[in-house]
Formats: sequence, C-alpha cells, structure tokens
Amino acid sequence: MSQYKGENKECPYCSGKGYFQLLLGGSETCSCCGGSGKEKQ
Ligand SMILES: [Zn+2]
Repeated sequence: MSQYKGENKECPYCSGKGYFQLLLGGSETCSCCGGSGKEKQ
C-alpha cells in the first residue's frame, strides 16, 4: 500500500488547512506547519 504521491506539499497533519478542528469546538493551530498549511522542507 504505497500509493502516496509526493507532489503534494500540503502539511500531512492538517491536510493543508493550517489548523486542527477540535471536536469540542474551536480550532488549534497546527504545530507542524505553524499554521501555514504547507509542509516544511
Ligand atoms: Zn499543518
């Protein structure tokens, strides 16, 4: 199962949104990309 295409530079943790949606409401900035939504090089 290696169907991952490496062309996408979106942050894999937040799917390019830059934040996580919390179940209880609100959102939290993604610490992986710092809120930019892009994967760090
Ligand atoms: Zn992120």
